[in-house]
Amino acid sequence: MALILDGKAVAAAYKAKIKAKVDALAARNITCGLAILLVGDDAASRIYADRLVKLATGLGVRAVVRHLPADAAEEEVLTLVRELNADGSIHGILPMMPLPPHLAADRVAAALAPDKDVDALHPLNAGLVATGKSRWAPCTPRAVMAILAHYHIDVSGKHAVIIGRSNVVGKPLAHLLLGQNATVTVCHSKTGDLAALTRQADVLIAAAGRPALIGPDMVRPGAVVIDVGINEVNGAVVGDVAYDAVLPVAAAITPVPGGVGAVTTVMVVEAALRNFGDL
Ligand code: NAD
Repeated sequence: MALILDGKAVAAAYKAKIKAKVDALAARNITCGLAILLVGDDAASRIYADRLVKLATGLGVRAVVRHLPADAAEEEVLTLVRELNADGSIHGILPMMPLPPHLAADRVAAALAPDKDVDALHPLNAGLVATGKSRWAPCTPRAVMAILAHYHIDVSGKHAVIIGRSNVVGKPLAHLLLGQNATVTVCHSKTGDLAALTRQADVLIAAAGRPALIGPDMVRPGAVVIDVGINEVNGAVVGDVAYDAVLPVAAAITPVPGGVGAVTTVMVVEAALRNFGDL
């Protein structure tokens, strides 16, 4: 039976470090501020934003949600981003993705002040991550790496297979794993024989947003399985991995919920604090 990689335990270790940093700042009368930019009424984004506010507030970081209507003009969004860039009480900005389809996510990303760009969306930060020059990769890939590090799972020389090539999860995660000397394969919706590749994985990371995409026949016995997916099925939150069926095959596995997602939110708060030095 697989070892359960408990995201809440990883998050707890980070929360303690964040709290110590927040307290040190409070002693200097400084309060860190995180702004969450929410355009429209995407239910998942709203739930995620509320969870972030609760977490940040509990840790002593001031979190504000700046909400614009779904039909907000691009210039309105860019004006708000510039306002937050200039606001000295805001240290991190997180635009909730996906934006409504009429808005160009790349122009919003490029408008962010690079040093307040919590999810490394700005092209400068994305480029630094791709060249291995930044430790501020997007929060979800950092959460995956934090889970591996917490459980002393060394990826050096291992074959890591990622399913998903998004700019905020799959691609930056590939760079982080390469930085740790893993051999990385990135699969996506046009990959021919997905199972043939996943079965080769020492570390299998699913980030496709497809419930039960990964069944036990797609997992090499003894593999480490990291499930990034968050899907709603009949009112329940599930990942991309058929958890119960894969559990007896894998050596270690993250649950959903309580896995990567629990760590990602903590990474967002940590990233808002980055201008105050390392934790
Ligand atoms: P996305 O839709 O931008 O990208 C999905 C990727 O999966 C694409 O590259 C696509 O080619 C690939 N894909 C889709 N179906 C596939 C299939 N059948 N076979 C192979 N590849 C397939 O999504 P994203 O923003 O990268 O998020 C991916 C998933 O991770 C979603 O479920 C999302 O909710 C979740 N997510 C979780 C966290 C967390 O903290 N746990 C954070 C961000 C995203």
